[in-house]
This record gives sequence, C-alpha cells and structure tokens, in this order.
Amino acid sequence: RIVLGIESSCDETAAALVTEDRRILAQAIASQDDSHAPYGGVVPEIAARAHAERLTPLIGRVLDDAGLSLDDCSAIAATAGPGLIGGVMVGLVTAKALAMASDRPLLAINHLEGHALSPRLADADLQFPYALLLVSGGHCQVLRVDGVGRYRRLATTIDDALGEAFDKTAKILGLGFPGGPAVERLAAEGDAKAVPLPRPLFGSEEPHFSFAGLKSAVLRAHESGKYRAADIAASFQQAAIDCILDRTTRALSAMGEVTALVVAGGVAANRSVRAALEHLAASHGVRFVAPPPALCTDNAAMIAWAGLEWLEKGRPGDALDVAARPRWPLDPEATPVRGAGV
Ligand code: ATP
Ligand code: MG
Ligand code: FE
Repeated sequence: RIVLGIESSCDETAAALVTEDRRILAQAIASQDDSHAPYGGVVPEIAARAHAERLTPLIGRVLDDAGLSLDDCSAIAATAGPGLIGGVMVGLVTAKALAMASDRPLLAINHLEGHALSPRLADADLQFPYALLLVSGGHCQVLRVDGVGRYRRLATTIDDALGEAFDKTAKILGLGFPGGPAVERLAAEGDAKAVPLPRPLFGSEEPHFSFAGLKSAVLRAHESGKYRAADIAASFQQAAIDCILDRTTRALSAMGEVTALVVAGGVAANRSVRAALEHLAASHGVRFVAPPPALCTDNAAMIAWAGLEWLEKGRPGDALDVAARPRWPLDPEATPVRGAGV
C-alpha cells in the first residue's frame, strides 16, 4: 500500500508518499516562515492563500519524484483539523478533488493523530499502549495511546502550549519567528542557573501543565535589564523541562503499564527536551521513542502514516462532504480545563 498525505493546518504546506512498510518514497514541505516573520506569528489569511498557491504543484512534484501517479495510491489522506480553518480547507478540498478524480478513498485525518502516531512510522517496534507527551505549537498533553483512534488524555495545559511558550520567549528576546529552534540555539550559549524563573504547577496534585506564568517571568527578567539573553533562554528552557519532567512523571504514575514513553510534536525536535525525557524513561524502566526532528515538526509523512494505520484497521474512505474542523480533540471524553487546553 502507498498513501498520499497532505498537510496544511498551520504554516507548512506539505505532501508525502508513504508505504505501509514505513518507506517515505517522496516528500516536500514549503515553509511560510518568511511570509509570517514580519508579523511575529502566523497570519491565518496569508497562510490560507499560500497553501492554495503551493499545494497543487507540491503534490505534483512529490508524485514525480517517486515516479508514481495517483493510480498507484491506495488512498489520499489529508489533515481535516484541528488548525487554522482556511488552510485546513485548502488541503481537504484538494484531497477531495484528487480522491474524486482518481476514484481513491479519502481519509480525513486528525492532525494531532498524525503527531501521535508519527513515532510508529519512525520505529517499527513501538507497540500499544504507550505514554505520549504531545508538545507542539498548540498543545501540551500527556495521553495514553491504546491503539489507532484510542487516546486517553491524562494531562493538558491550562493556559499556553509549550511551543507557544518557546515562541513567546523568542519574541520577548527578539529572536524572530519561528521561535523554538532559535531559543534552543541561544540557550546552548547560556547559563541555565543564571535567571531565577518559576516552575508553574511543579509538584502540584493537579495533573495539568501551565506555562503562562513562566512566560510572564521571562518578560520581567528581560525588562529588568539584569540578564543576558542567552542566560534567559537557557533558564527558560530548563524551567520548561523541569515542569515537563515533573508533570509527565505524575501522569505516568496514573497511567498503568505502557510499553514506552514517547514524545512527539514540534517541541520534540528540541535536543535538551529529548535528552531529559530519555533520562526519565530510563529511570522508569521503559523504552524511550522520539521521531527524528523532521518528523516532529509539521509534515505530511505523518498524515500519510496515520492514513495507513487506519487502512490497516479496515477504515473505509470518508464521505466526500466530510467537514474541516477547527477544533478536534484526540480524547473527546476528556473534561475541558480552564483556558485553551483541549
Ligand atoms: P499543533 O500541532 O498543536 O496544531 P503546530 O502544528 O503549529 O501546532 P508543530 O508544528 O507541531 O505545531 O510545532 C511547532 C512548534 O514547535 C512551534 O511552537 C515551535 O517553536 C516549536 N519548536 C520547533 N522546533 C523546536 C525546538 N528545536 N525547540 C523548541 N521548540 C521547537
Ligand atoms: Mg511552522
Ligand atoms: Fe502540528
């Protein structure tokens, strides 16, 4: 089986062809960083327009690179949410048109499920159930993954997502957009003990995450003029990691047996975050799995892979009138918390 994956939920336009035996035959990603950089964040209208201009040629390029046509594909999988609705609609409508023209099934994929299953694309030995720390631009959650489509959320953020905290820290320090990689680079030159910063909810009975107070403290530290930017970046990153370790440890204790601790989503590309979680997994006697960094940030291979996982489970194609969803929680049973967390 080969699946064409399409991703357009934020500011990366991406297409990929992936096989059921985990080969990425071809992939392409067009980042829009330069279009959004002047605004310091993703502008939805600019993003939707850029997806519309770039997606069709990108899909053509990926098929050419692999020497394949749509007839060679078993299905077309596209992100149907959650995300910026204009961009999601561009990807989903394109997928519908291709599915109709080629008489192939359409699979409307949850972007978060793409992140959640991406470690299984990277690692053929990763079995369910596993503990997943999903840390991305819009989410910070711990989930128990029992199977494809079976997610139980144990913790979520009550305010900012972790990637959002990195991006805001970058903005405060004038590092530009996108911020995560820039903060990581600068942190490598700083002293993580130089700036006293809070660790929100550390040790708390509450299962969740919080990063808003940390971000505000970063702003105050910067405005005080007392600290080097590199020291702020390093201290921020360490505080964020301490929070993640504490909160993930708590979630693991409530989760039951799992085969592995897995991290996914854009922030999982961060080397210090990966190293800290690897250490945590070792101390809990479980395997640690993190996809290669290029599979952590938004990409279409993970969407194609999620499609393959669903095909394997016997899911038929979705109706061609399936709707794009701006919000789409992985665990619909989870109780909503204060703030943005879903
Ligand atoms: P979501 O998946 O929640 O809908 P998204 O798709 O916008 O959000 P991703 O592409 O998964 O998010 O991740 C992007 C986020 O990851 C950004 O906030 C970015 O700053 C962060 N990020 C990327 N690389 C790194 C890094 N090396 N260190 C820290 N953060 C990083
Ligand atoms: Mg991006
Ligand atoms: Fe994402």
